[in-house]
Amino acid sequence: MNSTERDGPRPSREELSGVIATVAREAQAFLDGLDDRPARLVRTEDSLRQLKGSLPEEGDGAVVSLQRLIEKGMDAAVGSAGPRCFHFVIGGTTPAALGADWLATALDQMAYAWVSSPLATELEVVSLAWLRELFGLPAEWAGVMTTGATMANFVGLASARQWWGERQEVDIAERGLSGLPQIPVLTGGYIHASAVKSLSMLGAGRSTVRMLSRDNVGRLDVEAMEEALRDLKGAPAILIGNAGEVNAGDFDPIEAMADLADKYGAWLHVDGAFGLFARVSPQTEHLAAGAERAHSVAVDGHKWLNVPYDCGFGFVGDPSLLGRTFAYTAAYLPDPDDPRPNFGSLGPESSRRARSLPVWATLCAYGRAGYRRMVEGHIALAQRLGRLVDEAPDLERLAYVTLNIVCFRYNPGGLSEDQLNDLNERLGEAILADGRFYAGATQYGGKTALRPAIVNWRTREEHVDQFVAVVRELGAQIFEGLLNQDRQRKS
Ligand SMILES: *Cc1c(COP(=O)(O)O)cnc(C)c1O
Repeated sequence: MNSTERDGPRPSREELSGVIATVAREAQAFLDGLDDRPARLVRTEDSLRQLKGSLPEEGDGAVVSLQRLIEKGMDAAVGSAGPRCFHFVIGGTTPAALGADWLATALDQMAYAWVSSPLATELEVVSLAWLRELFGLPAEWAGVMTTGATMANFVGLASARQWWGERQEVDIAERGLSGLPQIPVLTGGYIHASAVKSLSMLGAGRSTVRMLSRDNVGRLDVEAMEEALRDLKGAPAILIGNAGEVNAGDFDPIEAMADLADKYGAWLHVDGAFGLFARVSPQTEHLAAGAERAHSVAVDGHKWLNVPYDCGFGFVGDPSLLGRTFAYTAAYLPDPDDPRPNFGSLGPESSRRARSLPVWATLCAYGRAGYRRMVEGHIALAQRLGRLVDEAPDLERLAYVTLNIVCFRYNPGGLSEDQLNDLNERLGEAILADGRFYAGATQYGGKTALRPAIVNWRTREEHVDQFVAVVRELGAQIFEGLLNQDRQRKS
């Protein structure tokens, strides 16, 4: 340890060089091994224990501390950046995005406004325009980068709330919600939990959401939605359409919802966290047709765009509405009328990370065609996975493979629904404990199921094939265990 380290952080070229060399070397090794590394390591608890303890009085210095973090921490890190991660909807990081994100950290830009970083602000403007092009959304729409689709849903629904108030001549940003009735929010059973959470954060309340499903997996009942709108007798309402739901990758009929929004003067918000990427390929663009007719759209960056956490995009059709919803001012901040972009006044956050650097870099590096090829590749992998499931006598596909998610279960035959649910729940846990793949269980129409989601640029055919083999291996083990228990009980 040298004396500068003992004093606290001080400019030291030597220390910084050590840090950069250490991190570059270790990151390279980690990324090189990512294709072969287990998706989830099982020594998490042991490794993390060694990083605890009390706050050091005297620090160990940067390089020593980072080495400890690498030595103990890497074992507890999930291999979610790798090709075997099918859990939740987790994207990887493209090389271009990774490099630009490191640069964003080194430059430590504050993407609040033009004055705080012309670079981050201009790249946010450019990236949002490129994304509108990529997704086929109108060029005149406004947009803002967020931490993810939860906050992108928040941006869309906050704008919808402001619009809803203005329809009744109330400026909700100014006056609040008090004295107003509950905001009618209509959707199907595909609504994502984060949209409901956003409504609770917005003071609209979770219970204001009416899910109009026509079956037990959550498909939207369009007639029931129209009836509910008719019953409102012209009062404004918010419709939430889901372009890509998380269990099977299915879509609400966005075009039909846009027709209803037109006819009844409602606001249509579309949650396309990953599913909006269907619009990147002519093979699948019909699935999310009508999103360009919505009033707001939420998309994730850290899922299918494969930029690092955290990153999402909120788009709003009326370009002046974000300002009315999110504007704030103080003597030391830029004037709200400053014509130069001020994203701190167009979204929920003030000081913000320069997420625009990795987004700009990855779009610049791979272009529209690169993303189309990646999305089409993932769709082909999902189709392949669906075929392998269909061919396996002990696997049962539970839903049509619409996009990039395959919903299926282990079903060796002869078991009751309760036994199958129990078996598949154990299977989900066994896959996580096994660690070769990272995937989990869900509930689909009352059935416990697996729902691998393919969104990582590294995933290839061999990973999908191995996944099916691992599921069958672990499923057979659990089934065998259940049979043995049964035999013991009977004898
Ligand atoms: C992941 C997801 C969200 C939430 O996004 P975060 O990035 O986790 O905030 C919202 N909607 C859908 C459909 C999603 O898949």
